[in-house]
Amino acid sequence: MKDRGFTTRILHSDRLAGVEHGALHKPVHTSVAFGYQRAKELARVFQGEASGYVYGRQTNPTVAALEAKVSAMEEGVGTICFGTGMAAIGSALFALLRRGDHLLSSAFLFGNTNSLFNTFDGQGVAVSFCDATSAAAVAAALRPETRLVFVETIANPRTQIADLKAIGELCAARGLVYVVDNTLTTPYLFRPREVGASLVVNALTKYIGGHGNALGGAITDTGLFDWSAFPNISDSYRKLKPAVWGLTQIRKKGLRDFGASLAAEAAHHIAVGAETLALRMERACENAGGLARHLADHPAVARVYYPGLAEHPQFARCQQLFRAPGALLSFELAPGFDPFEFLDRLRVVVLSSNLGDTRSLAIPVAHTIYFEMGPERRASMGIADSLIRLSVGIEDLEDLVEDLTQALAEPPT
Ligand SMILES: *Cc1c(COP(=O)(O)O)cnc(C)c1O
Repeated sequence: MKDRGFTTRILHSDRLAGVEHGALHKPVHTSVAFGYQRAKELARVFQGEASGYVYGRQTNPTVAALEAKVSAMEEGVGTICFGTGMAAIGSALFALLRRGDHLLSSAFLFGNTNSLFNTFDGQGVAVSFCDATSAAAVAAALRPETRLVFVETIANPRTQIADLKAIGELCAARGLVYVVDNTLTTPYLFRPREVGASLVVNALTKYIGGHGNALGGAITDTGLFDWSAFPNISDSYRKLKPAVWGLTQIRKKGLRDFGASLAAEAAHHIAVGAETLALRMERACENAGGLARHLADHPAVARVYYPGLAEHPQFARCQQLFRAPGALLSFELAPGFDPFEFLDRLRVVVLSSNLGDTRSLAIPVAHTIYFEMGPERRASMGIADSLIRLSVGIEDLEDLVEDLTQALAEPPT
């Protein structure tokens, strides 16, 4: 199926892997443990000499089928799924970084990732943030002990686009692990492998699962990084071919020891959602483009941040790298308009903190998801007090335009 299109490959991946009874979906395996007839066989699986399932914290057949699907979407060599997107990021970095290492991150980050990295900073891994829209700023912030560079494709919520290609070249030249969070673009709009990413993060909770009914996260190894040159791989995992060292260590340290496993039921929901990823992204991106233009022309709106608008600072980069500009936008209301009153008037758009749902969701950023980081860090990330994030769903565009228009209609008081 390698030569088939994106959706064809996702739809048929379970079936072609030979599912029990000819089932078209991978069944939901709820068994925590797996039994063996022979002790030697059990030992061989434990020692990694034979493939098989032992205990659900590390592997499960339903989750493995989803891992294969995500690998196919990202064109990676392997994927590990986790209970949430945050678990994927936290577990992978926990597994790969050691005391004294430096982690260089984009300053434009999902709020909880920002908070997580600050926790790492308190535990012996130095962390610094830089303006990743510029590869020169990234280069200037590198240190001799830098091991890993972390960026988001389109940053949530201000939609800055990292200089993905040039940072990839920089990381390749310096032998750094390059981690790209592809959540906002998804493998349908963009494959980070094409810009040299070593590891790709996807919060499966968002567009890939796509219906707001299951949490999950994934780390995909693109196969581009040479793990034999990475000093933090334990001797125990330097046994099989170097291509699998990174993921083996992440599975053992991050999943087996840390335990943030994805449940089989959630993996099933996500796998079903993934079947329509391309269709939903087409529709949601088209809706987002329509709404962005509408908002940009509206007198009650001061600024719109959407990479599909020609005035966006990384518009050209967006056109060059992504199939479409994504389905997330944010905007600031004009002075005199109260964001809370505006939000309370919405009837179709739901006030909710998720993104990537089929439904459109809006949230006042500074007062909710970015509240904890305080005004200074918010200012450094370009987050104004009146910023509203809109995750655009797959409703009929006319209904969304009508809803926003009526909510913006009240004159300033
Ligand atoms: C939501 C999100 C995450 C975390 O995913 P969860 O499944 O909610 O833990 C990570 N990165 C980005 C860009 C996200 O939007």
